Amino acid sequence: SPSQGYYTRRGGVGESGDFITSPEISQVFGELIGVWYISEWMAMGKPSALQLVELGPGRGTLTEDILRVFKQLSSVLSKCDVSVHLVEVSPKLSEIQAVLLTGGKVQPSPEDESAYMKGISKTGIPIFWYRDIQDVPPGYSFYLAHEFFDALPIHKFQRTEKGWREVLVDIDPQVPDQLRFVLSPSRTPATQNFIQPEETRDHVEVCPEAGVIVQRLASRIEKDGGAALVADYGHDGTKTDTFRGFRNHQLHDVLSAPGTADLTADVDFSYLRKMAQGKTATLGPIKQREFLKNMGIDLRLQVLLQNSGDTATREQLLHSYDMLMNPEKMGDCFNFFALLPHHRLVHPDKKDKPQSKSPLPPVAGFNELLLK
Ligand code: SAH
Repeated sequence: SPSQGYYTRRGGVGESGDFITSPEISQVFGELIGVWYISEWMAMGKPSALQLVELGPGRGTLTEDILRVFKQLSSVLSKCDVSVHLVEVSPKLSEIQAVLLTGGKVQPSPEDESAYMKGISKTGIPIFWYRDIQDVPPGYSFYLAHEFFDALPIHKFQRTEKGWREVLVDIDPQVPDQLRFVLSPSRTPATQNFIQPEETRDHVEVCPEAGVIVQRLASRIEKDGGAALVADYGHDGTKTDTFRGFRNHQLHDVLSAPGTADLTADVDFSYLRKMAQGKTATLGPIKQREFLKNMGIDLRLQVLLQNSGDTATREQLLHSYDMLMNPEKMGDCFNFFALLPHHRLVHPDKKDKPQSKSPLPPVAGFNELLLK
């Protein structure tokens, strides 16, 4: 809701807010994602321009960490024209992003431009803000969606003896100002459109908006090249009832005080894969701890520990590593998933001349790290 929605009114990402995310826990998280993009950019033949497009950038921390890596590797990227494109609906969060990334030096764009705001990052890279992925100009792009898809609205369905019914929200007739869940008395358009014929679960959550966005990402990657990295908590088409709310870092009843708590549902990666519809190849989901390990988090931690003199910093580094990697914490429930052009994984003419080409470089993060 543009006026009463959680992200337009509150949007409390971070320690002082309602929930904490990996980039807010450790700088290493964003740095390794930055390395992933550079590695893919090199594997795809170093195109002369790249757009980094982040969906739902929160406080802007992840983009800031990635841009720091781009700056550190500026000799590698020197011939590449880099720009940043942020898709953000929250006025409050876009302001926080602008301060963090540009020092507040932004200007609103004229009405006839697709971006609503623009500025220059502290590292000298142009940044643009949009409300919708469709407004981002076409071009070779690396997309990033971290804890974005889980924030989009879902439909819930329950299998009954009479067939699939949609779970709807109703006003409790007995208690004023109280919402309750009810089952639709008959089939709804959503039950007819969103349940897959081969579905075996009894309760299903579907996020059609996520499906539409993945279709758009897949079309854009197929046409203009690039890749998308999606990281979120989720499952591969196995979980049922995951809809929940968070407020002040505590679980919160999803039906009470709407608009004041973060509402979230696990991302169904099997659905996202289906929505890519063969336009792109997909990799994952792979557990966060495996992805980060494959990206070299252990080496990065060692370097940071060696460079930090005081005990408090070292303890903080170890604590944040544990938060990201421990299977009981974020290591197992968070997953990484990627969309890549087909030719990134298979040579287009491989079938005809299997021996004629050198092997394609493996995609970092999704393969075990081999140190030479
Ligand atoms: N990626 C960040 C923040 C995740 S919170 C991090 O990891 O810290 C979800 C983000 O998505 C917020 O920035 C929120 O404002 C944004 N968002 C939510 N719904 C959106 C929508 N429909 N379109 C664009 N952005 C949205």
